Amino acid sequence: MASAPSPEVLRAPLVVEFPFTRSLGPVQSAFLTGLRERTVLGVKTQDGRTLVPPVEYDPVTADEIRDLVEVAATGTVTTWAWNHEPRRGQPLDTPFAWVLVKLDGADTALLHALDAPGPDAVSSGMRVRIRWAEERAGAITDIACFEAYDEEGGGGEVRSHDGEFSEPVTGIVAPARLDYTYSPGGAQTRYINALSGQKIVGERCPSCHKVYVPPRGACPTCGVATTDAVEVGPRGTVTTYCIVNIKAKNLDIEVPYVYAHIALDGADLALHARIAGIPYDQVRMGLRVEPVWADDARFPDHYRPTGEPDADYDTYKEMV
Ligand SMILES: [Zn+2]
Repeated sequence: MASAPSPEVLRAPLVVEFPFTRSLGPVQSAFLTGLRERTVLGVKTQDGRTLVPPVEYDPVTADEIRDLVEVAATGTVTTWAWNHEPRRGQPLDTPFAWVLVKLDGADTALLHALDAPGPDAVSSGMRVRIRWAEERAGAITDIACFEAYDEEGGGGEVRSHDGEFSEPVTGIVAPARLDYTYSPGGAQTRYINALSGQKIVGERCPSCHKVYVPPRGACPTCGVATTDAVEVGPRGTVTTYCIVNIKAKNLDIEVPYVYAHIALDGADLALHARIAGIPYDQVRMGLRVEPVWADDARFPDHYRPTGEPDADYDTYKEMV
């Protein structure tokens, strides 16, 4: 059966979000704890340069570096870019400049935000100073932003610092978040639309005749578009499986449960789904299963045994 042209390709918002926890070595710990105490620390390299923000290893020699020095809270903008539309989580919620600031005493520049009324008020070479956050916890956001400062540089003096603070910050949790508008493309749009009619539709490669479910729009082996829609299943065979013992945060499924690869009848690629309706320790390769549709009937919630005899290994061995 030929695939009908899809009226509209699906699109939906997709957010990938997770906290990233990292421990700090002695240098980053001193740097972030210093910010909490309104002190900016850098490191001194073997060739006498001062790096702010500090790094743990010399970028020239790769040697470990631990010589901490304190630099000023004032500096000079080396380059900048205007941010017309601040996004969620950025340092300021009004338009601002991203700036690289070489703090007095440092030889490298630090990236941060500059609070300014407009791009006309920003220039390379302008003098700026740190505006400290009122509440500081040992993070780069302890520097709320930079602001214009109309005095000349203080000569770039640096002082040695032992990096010792009471209650040092030893780790940070950095939330990572990616906002997408996701489009699954024409092939998966057709697949998803068919699912809402409780049909599972793959696509056949015109060259090797394999049927891909879910379809990706092209055959990865032959490199040609898959053009023929083919209804498969709904029954299928478990080709391999695993027992899940770790409860996922946002899933209301009791552990242990079984997640399996299922070769639907007529498909040449296994898809994966949860198996239920059978004790987890009785699931096996070759088990015949069928979909149980979700309450809104738009996708299979899980698969359950059909009661048929197990499939012969030879019938699915190519898909294990
Ligand atoms: Zn092919």
